[in-house]
Amino acid sequence: MNSPARIVGSATHEVFNQPSPLTGYNLFLTDKTLVNEIEREGAVWAGPQLAELGRLLGTEELQHWGFEANENKPVLHTHDQSGNRRDEVLFHPSWHNLMRTSVEHRVHSLPWIEKQQGAHLARAALLMLTAQNEAGHTCPISMTFSGLAALRVEPELMREWEAKLISSSYDPRFVPVQQKAGALLGMGMTEKQGGSDVRANTTVAERIDGSREYLITGHKWFCSAPMCDAFLILAQAPKGLSCFFLPRWTPAGERNRFHIQRLKDKLGNRSNASSEVEFHGAWAQLVGEEGRGINTIIEMVHHTRLDCAIAAAALMRQALVQAVHHAGHRKAFGKLLIDQPLMRNVLADLTLESEAATLLMVRLARSFDARESDERERAFGRIATAISKYWLCKRSPMHVSEALECLGGNGYVEESIMPRLYREAPLYSIWEGSGNVICLDILRALAKDPSTLEALMHELRLVAGADPRIDSCVSELEASLSQHAARSAANGSGNAEGQARRLAERAALALQASLMVQHSSNAAANAFISSRLGGEGGHAFGTLPSDADVQSILDPICQPVLAL
Ligand SMILES: Cc1cc2nc3c(=O)[nH]c(=O)nc-3n(C[C@H](O)[C@H](O)[C@H](O)COP(=O)(O)OP(=O)(O)OC[C@H]3O[C@@H](n4cnc5c(N)ncnc54)[C@H](O)[C@@H]3O)c2cc1C
Repeated sequence: MNSPARIVGSATHEVFNQPSPLTGYNLFLTDKTLVNEIEREGAVWAGPQLAELGRLLGTEELQHWGFEANENKPVLHTHDQSGNRRDEVLFHPSWHNLMRTSVEHRVHSLPWIEKQQGAHLARAALLMLTAQNEAGHTCPISMTFSGLAALRVEPELMREWEAKLISSSYDPRFVPVQQKAGALLGMGMTEKQGGSDVRANTTVAERIDGSREYLITGHKWFCSAPMCDAFLILAQAPKGLSCFFLPRWTPAGERNRFHIQRLKDKLGNRSNASSEVEFHGAWAQLVGEEGRGINTIIEMVHHTRLDCAIAAAALMRQALVQAVHHAGHRKAFGKLLIDQPLMRNVLADLTLESEAATLLMVRLARSFDARESDERERAFGRIATAISKYWLCKRSPMHVSEALECLGGNGYVEESIMPRLYREAPLYSIWEGSGNVICLDILRALAKDPSTLEALMHELRLVAGADPRIDSCVSELEASLSQHAARSAANGSGNAEGQARRLAERAALALQASLMVQHSSNAAANAFISSRLGGEGGHAFGTLPSDADVQSILDPICQPVLAL
């Protein structure tokens, strides 16, 4: 008779047919689409930096930091032991390691330092890589990048803060900025009574003796990253809603009256310390003109919307990579999953979605590079940011969910990265303008700035004649958008509003189809168009029509992952 120990050892502990964790790979070099786009768009100079960050992010050590930063949530200390206000958030060392890595790789600052061609694109690619490992920490990284865009209207503030904000040194100490090697920016617009409708803000700004300095009293219901060194916030001043720069320390070197009430207990994005804050006569400086707060902060919002689109593409890419890796190493019914015809259809469909998302985010980032010097690119970026933010953020939760299922039960277990990707995905559609609000913004852009429609149509006509299904979609779209723009301009958009999501979706698909025709394989472009525009796809992933060339879609994207 076997001893109990022998039974346990031999009968239950032989592990086989379980793919090993995907580690020790380069997130950049294995992403053929991203590598090609960086080369084609003239940002080759950024290749070594991207390859280095891609390598680091694929190491076991950095992957581990991502897990640890999420498992060990930040802790708020409102008061010290004597009852004095402290308002500090303590993070796990892995959070700091991730922040340091991103700051050192200038994910928060590259285009504000680097004047070479494609600096926005290069930085978008950096964010796309780092958001695949651990997206929570990219919140303060993104707000610092975006805040710098808005702060440019205040040259004096820039003189005082810019060097610290673009610095490649991560300095998490809670001390006045003069003592720091690097600083970070946050943002506060949302209040209890309204987030989308920021004009309903009740926080009040009281001017100090005719200066540009104010005392702020009120609250913010969401303030992600309260440990940042300064915030752009909105508050009601005598001339209306205005934008303010509110540092954690006053110029006199005292703690500003910025009080953190509590941290949010969130679905995902757990490493990031989203909070509720109150201002009790906090010192702040006006940014831009009093009463023009939305116009001022919109620069920051525009850049964070770009980042939402990039992060959504990043989640899809990572979810795809994990699904392909699993399917390439797991057998069922005598064959590898990746060789099962129905799984191949699912993976090919997920591949198309991820590839089209990457191409769209790259095109969008390119418009940020050109917007200062090219009026059409500015107009294109204005409307394409909203279209891309809406669509990529809507697609990523579905995409990640399907990719998660490719791992079967393992995908639902926290030891894999999939639950984290899944929880993170809906967030990008909520913040910086939820789905509906973004679609209404598209109508606003069309009504207020006719050059946005012209720029969008110019972009779509680049592939005129390449495929009749795109041609017909673009003609319909042009007619509908022109009609809606005219109606919106005439009666304040009432009639058009109910159709705004439909329009945004068609515009996004037309843009993605045109990019696929230009930059992907014939097989991938054709399958994308037939399934997304030609009415031959279904509502779930894995419903590509029978003539889709699955092998040619999968091979170029999946081979680098399967070769690992
Ligand atoms: C994790 C996290 C971090 C955040 N961090 C920050 C931060 O740092 N700073 C900050 O300022 N905010 C932050 N936010 C807040 C976020 O930007 C808001 O939640 C968002 O803008 C929506 O505002 P709301 O929650 O008040 O919802 P509401 O404005 O009440 O909207 C609710 C729903 O109604 C829809 N809706 C609104 N208006 C219309 C309309 N006219 N027609 C049709 N539908 C409409 C919206 O699309 C949404 O789906 C954060 C949110 C989260 C979840």
